[in-house]
Amino acid sequence: MTTFTASPETPLGAAIPVPGRPSANIDIARVADLVSQLLIALGEDPAREGLIGTPERVAAWWSGFLSPDDATSVTCFSEQLSGQLVIVGGMSVWALCEHHMLPMNLQVTVGYVPDGEVVGLSKFGRIAAHFAGRLQVQERFTEQVAEYLTGVIGRKDVAIAVRGVHLCMSMRGVRMEAARTTTLHTGGRFATDPVLSQQFLAAAQWNAA
Ligand SMILES: [Zn+2]
Repeated sequence: MTTFTASPETPLGAAIPVPGRPSANIDIARVADLVSQLLIALGEDPAREGLIGTPERVAAWWSGFLSPDDATSVTCFSEQLSGQLVIVGGMSVWALCEHHMLPMNLQVTVGYVPDGEVVGLSKFGRIAAHFAGRLQVQERFTEQVAEYLTGVIGRKDVAIAVRGVHLCMSMRGVRMEAARTTTLHTGGRFATDPVLSQQFLAAAQWNAA
């Protein structure tokens, strides 16, 4: 089911494509038509001044949201260093909760231990945005980012901390605006080396502050 696998043989310099969504075809005209129908079903008049163009804008937004960087690929660069912990934090991405189709904001911190290779730093944000741009749950998002990065570096020494604010918790149901959901993936050395895992968690907390 996974289209990207951890591969110790991944050669440095080989671009590893980010897997696309299962179905990337968006019928924008039909989405706009359905949004118009939704407005009518909600008792609105799509022809009133304030709503003119709204279905098209909503459809265009869906299209952009569901197709972020579908062609993104990540390349590792050869670098003679090892044992150093690299942490990239402060990445903020938006996803839509697949249970309520309401936004969730995900603050992402990623860590890995380079061993002869480094990942271009700017790629982490694009990877996070890519896996966020869909109907999602935070737990799966965390695993998808972890799995992909594991494949990119070819080892399991990857840690991801995600802190989510879910509008389906803040603006409906229990209405707990201060609620935060944290998911954590610790692979390889992050799972077996308490010092490394503590260093990552401390940095993740610092980044999320
Ligand atoms: Zn939800």
